[in-house]
Amino acid sequence: MAEPELVDVVVIGLGVGGEEVAGRLAEAGLSVVGVERDLVGGECPYWGCIPSKMMIRAANALAEARRVDGLAGAAQVQADWAPVAKRIREEATDTWDDTVAVRRFTDRGGRFVRGSGRIDGPGRVRVGDQVFQARHGIVLGTGTRPSVPPIDGLADTPYWTNHQAIEVEELPASLLVLGGGAIGLELAQVFARFGVRVTVVEALERVLAVEEPEASEVAAAALRADGVEIHTGVRAERVEHDGSRFTLRGAGGAEFTADRLLVVTGRRAHLDELGLDTVGVDAAQRYLAVDDRLHVTDGIWAVGDVTGEGAFTHIAMYQAAIVIADVLARARLAGAGPDASGTASVVGGAMGASSSLAASGSSGSAGSVPRADYRALPRVTFTDPEVGAVGLTERQARERGINVQVGFTKLSSSTRGWIHQVGDEGFIKLIADADQGVLIGATSVGPAGGEVLSALVVAVHAAVPLSQLRHMIYAYPTFHRAIEDALRNLS
Ligand SMILES: Cc1cc2nc3c(=O)[nH]c(=O)nc-3n(C[C@H](O)[C@H](O)[C@H](O)COP(=O)(O)OP(=O)(O)OC[C@H]3O[C@@H](n4cnc5c(N)ncnc54)[C@H](O)[C@@H]3O)c2cc1C
Repeated sequence: MAEPELVDVVVIGLGVGGEEVAGRLAEAGLSVVGVERDLVGGECPYWGCIPSKMMIRAANALAEARRVDGLAGAAQVQADWAPVAKRIREEATDTWDDTVAVRRFTDRGGRFVRGSGRIDGPGRVRVGDQVFQARHGIVLGTGTRPSVPPIDGLADTPYWTNHQAIEVEELPASLLVLGGGAIGLELAQVFARFGVRVTVVEALERVLAVEEPEASEVAAAALRADGVEIHTGVRAERVEHDGSRFTLRGAGGAEFTADRLLVVTGRRAHLDELGLDTVGVDAAQRYLAVDDRLHVTDGIWAVGDVTGEGAFTHIAMYQAAIVIADVLARARLAGAGPDASGTASVVGGAMGASSSLAASGSSGSAGSVPRADYRALPRVTFTDPEVGAVGLTERQARERGINVQVGFTKLSSSTRGWIHQVGDEGFIKLIADADQGVLIGATSVGPAGGEVLSALVVAVHAAVPLSQLRHMIYAYPTFHRAIEDALRNLS
């Protein structure tokens, strides 16, 4: 058996969260081993946020061109997928090659090891034949993989996950999308706008079921206007593939056929592969339970999707800042930490990004390390219109027994919505805690719903009193000015 090599920190999984932690700790002067079995950067740059948003940008350009009629003359649009596929291949992913990303990490001072990392007792990580003993700790940033439901026949068919949908060079004539969540709707709309006949099948009673019902309605109407067929309340029971076409059979005799089937029914962490039992951590959990400084157990931190706190790149980055500060604080306490200048700059940056967080002590951490706070977690579904949301929905707030006030206004009744005309579907919905006099949740749907959301995130995050929000000046005629109308309607 190989002798363990002593290092400061081992990071397993170099997705968004893991790469940030590993790179910043290495820059601060710690000896860091970063382990990645697939591509450095993870899901977001290769099969997630970035290529999907390139697809959406292109699809929205088509949609805008189709709106010229009646607004600005006449336009003829001919959709072509080739430039989209080329941009994803060449600009976003280097044809799914991470040479540049690996160099980005090693240039920061990290040591890169390609392979599957597995914990092998306290502080110890095994990657193939190599064994590392981490002086200060292990960070797990292993993310999630698509969760494929146990539908009869499905596993034997050549179904797509987000990987094949992002890598596609030639579009199919028809596509079944199993799952009406954010990723399903974004991709369904893109492909429909490029001429694919798309059918979305969702088991729940509405698409975007985690968001406000009004948001589900607007999103479903927008997709239907793009030609997408949406079937909700349909539980898939069997999938068949005859060599060229898929057939999906649902409860009650529903039947759908298409050239391709995209399965986007959620994501799953694979904890059983990580050797957690060797450090007394339950590998049967759905996600890795962490405290508010992302500790899994003494000397082990987790970051990103694997924590189950929200599958977003911004969550992974937010958590990474806390983990970096905590590991550096621990290294300093151990007296074997990084040089003073590196420490100061990294801890300063992490604290700066989370300055409103409480900063009192916790076991194994210096008192100045921030704590994670997800009250104002923003989430955006990049359909057209965009669905932005923060904090609690009305239902969640009522279930918590909060004295709820709701304010609602349609975007089309704002001046900017009226000017915008075609494509102005959307609304602002505010959820207030009437006793505290603050917003605790908000939804912003519209052409720039995700951007308008930022004002509402500040309001929820900083618990800005409603009285102050009502006496702010909102620029005329912006979309965000509709917030003022929704505040007026709070009741
Ligand atoms: C289609 C799609 C669109 C998305 N759009 C957005 C968006 O617009 N905005 C947004 O905020 N989020 C979006 N997301 C989510 C975002 O991609 C994730 O939240 C983000 O990638 C999570 O980062 P992570 O570091 O936790 O994990 P990941 O990016 O999943 O990285 C984990 C890494 O760990 C590696 N790994 C796992 N186990 C091991 C092991 N044992 N040893 C070595 N390596 C291992 C994996 O190979 C992987 O590279 C989207 C996701 C998808 C699928």
